[in-house]
Amino acid sequence: MNKRVLAFAVLLIGLVCLCVRDLSRPVQSAAQGIPAPEDVLGFKPGDDRKLASWSQVVEYFERLDVASDRVMFQVLGKSTMEKPFVLATISAPENLARLEEYKAVQEQLADPRKLGTGTARDRRAAELIRKGKTIVLITCGIHSTEVGSYLSSMLIAHRLASSNEPEIQRILQNTIILLVPSLNPDGVDIVKNWYDKTLGTPYEGTDPPELYHKYTGHDNNRDWYAFTQVETQITVDKIHNVWHPQIVHDIHQQGSMGSRLFLPPYMQPVEPNVPKQIVEGYTELGNWMAHEMRAKGFVGITTNSTYDAWSPSRAYSHYHGGVRILSETASARIATPITLKFEQLTSREGYDPQKESANYGPLWRGGEWKLRDITNYMTTAAFLLLNHASVNREQWLRRFYEIGREAVRPRVIRERFGFLIPPTANSDSLEKILVTAGVEVASPVWGPTARVGTRPIQKDTSLVRIDQPYGSFASALLERQHYPDLRDASGHPIQPYDVTAHTLPLLLGIEVQELRAPLKYRLPSGSMTQVVGSGNCCLAVPSAPMGLYRAAVPSMDAGWTDWILSAQDVYHTIITEKDVRSGKLHYTTVPSTTDRYRLIIIPDQAARTILNGYRSGAMPPELTGGLGQEGVKALRQYVEDGGTLVFLNRASDFAIEQFKLPIKNVVAGLPRTDFYVPGSILRIELDTTHPIARSMPKESIAWAEESPVFEVIENPATPSQYSVPASAVKVIAWYPRVADPLLSGWLLGANRIKGKAALIEVKMGKGRIVLFGFRPQYRAQSLATYPLFFNALRGGS
Ligand SMILES: [Zn+2]
Repeated sequence: MNKRVLAFAVLLIGLVCLCVRDLSRPVQSAAQGIPAPEDVLGFKPGDDRKLASWSQVVEYFERLDVASDRVMFQVLGKSTMEKPFVLATISAPENLARLEEYKAVQEQLADPRKLGTGTARDRRAAELIRKGKTIVLITCGIHSTEVGSYLSSMLIAHRLASSNEPEIQRILQNTIILLVPSLNPDGVDIVKNWYDKTLGTPYEGTDPPELYHKYTGHDNNRDWYAFTQVETQITVDKIHNVWHPQIVHDIHQQGSMGSRLFLPPYMQPVEPNVPKQIVEGYTELGNWMAHEMRAKGFVGITTNSTYDAWSPSRAYSHYHGGVRILSETASARIATPITLKFEQLTSREGYDPQKESANYGPLWRGGEWKLRDITNYMTTAAFLLLNHASVNREQWLRRFYEIGREAVRPRVIRERFGFLIPPTANSDSLEKILVTAGVEVASPVWGPTARVGTRPIQKDTSLVRIDQPYGSFASALLERQHYPDLRDASGHPIQPYDVTAHTLPLLLGIEVQELRAPLKYRLPSGSMTQVVGSGNCCLAVPSAPMGLYRAAVPSMDAGWTDWILSAQDVYHTIITEKDVRSGKLHYTTVPSTTDRYRLIIIPDQAARTILNGYRSGAMPPELTGGLGQEGVKALRQYVEDGGTLVFLNRASDFAIEQFKLPIKNVVAGLPRTDFYVPGSILRIELDTTHPIARSMPKESIAWAEESPVFEVIENPATPSQYSVPASAVKVIAWYPRVADPLLSGWLLGANRIKGKAALIEVKMGKGRIVLFGFRPQYRAQSLATYPLFFNALRGGS
């Protein structure tokens, strides 16, 4: 205990010295010949209006690798657009020489079954804890307009490689740092190119008019359980699953108008399968970092606000023994300084930046805010985190072992034992996800009399037990979510940070069965873990030429749609506002070379954005204006000539309004207290005689997120105000009339949607319009409703 107090005192003295100098400059240049970032970039990361290209970042780390025996640099794979995806492993040279040993320590502590049982197991674990290092993964730049972190990665690496300060020595000795300069290398250049192009123009500092990840944009950090994108796969397969880091520091930026910095703990709700030791760990570390930052004179810091810990899509490590320390520093305008008045600061969930409170302060009084402020907050926070990881090395490893020990504890009666996954169309996809996340999926031999209760167990049913290292991941993804009805002081629903449901069996259309008691079974000889295929074997994919509309204002749903069509080898052409407005859509009844689009998909986007796009003056003129009335006219002509338009989710409102369809969105404009569905899985019923619902079950799901809900206007007072009669409208799917529409997540105002339509086809002229009142291809996860989507794309009905 005394030793720890002493260590702490030394640490504090070190930190006091630290705060009086520029954090991005090393105190001692002990390590001769270690290049500084400015030697490669020609400027110091954090300088105003300067961004590094991805090749410069890679070059800097390559040079560090050559010059420093503390840095090991690797290319782990290729990004979506074929750029190198890289990792720097940083530690003391003697640790780098023994990485395989430290991996083995991690492997055994993560899975205490490998250490035997009882007190012998604890004794072996104690030896490993004495020997091991804290593994810290630092991830930067997943959101590419948040430029501070990839720039800071070079400042962090340089100080670690060059400094001989005692605290840096201790960090190098006690931790192994896995530094990912960017989780999205493509986006570094997308943002830099746009920023440089607009520098000195009225558009300097704007976000680029394209997604900064080709397919997912900002959703690239909503992929940590579906693993659809190569960047996620590389990070999970080659970093997380190899190293099982105890701490993941995920460095982000938030908007400009709130706190200067957010640190954990997260606000409620915390997803119930997150182990209590994880909650304890991020609470302790986040609060300590905030406390130390304040002591060093940093202001405007909040904890326990805005960001929750609900969705596993953002927190892989929470189910794999590691705390996620999200940090969110306030943004400038990319690399351009901004000036804010104190009165301009606005409240977010859980604090008011104009008032000091238990979880906010000291006040930031406004003024200039620039990239250097951002990199100073980021590098200071990162070194505090590394200090904690090194000083409390044993505590971090002990906590990690305790999580593993609890995970593999045999379950008793009335505790959840596991889940059975029957063999259905998408079972392979589900099992592949679980196996990717390190979950063991068993394929027992079921005898003819095998049953659970009175239900027989089908041949080829798989078993996922909960008493395994990553059983909490399986539980979180296989069970249904009961999102708490959280309200603020005035009774308004508190907006979840992301979405509220992630039940894979519902998203994939699989009836998984929960086991509440241990079950006897026999395994075939050989491997316990099943090798699984890629799923999606039997989708009937369309072949007619189609257009996918991608507006100047980027839509993540358009990106996901592009990815899904590409992954399924569906030939499609991207069409822009200009293409539509030009009126050259050319639908002809005889397919020809000029008839490029038999069908056009308009992905999810607010109706007003589709119509108006960027407002005039906000972006260069060629990007403003949206589809406008010209575009509406062209699309209408296209349908009347025989084309098909498929509208997804909010885009359906655009069709209803602009084509004057006899349909009402019954939830439009309702306050959240009356109706609210912030990303949930709802139940729908289907007319399976309709070609779009062909091959679907009578009951399925709808991913509802700010979704319209339709009612056909049967007998309008003034029929002439509509372009088609109600008889031209066919309802294909609807919310149940009696049963609760909510299957997983959160829904307020269920009664307003009972019996109302969720999927509609409208005949107009010689063509047709399909309106999805949900996202049938949500983030490439809702495979259950892929057939609806693909059927809708398969020519006329
Ligand atoms: Zn972010």
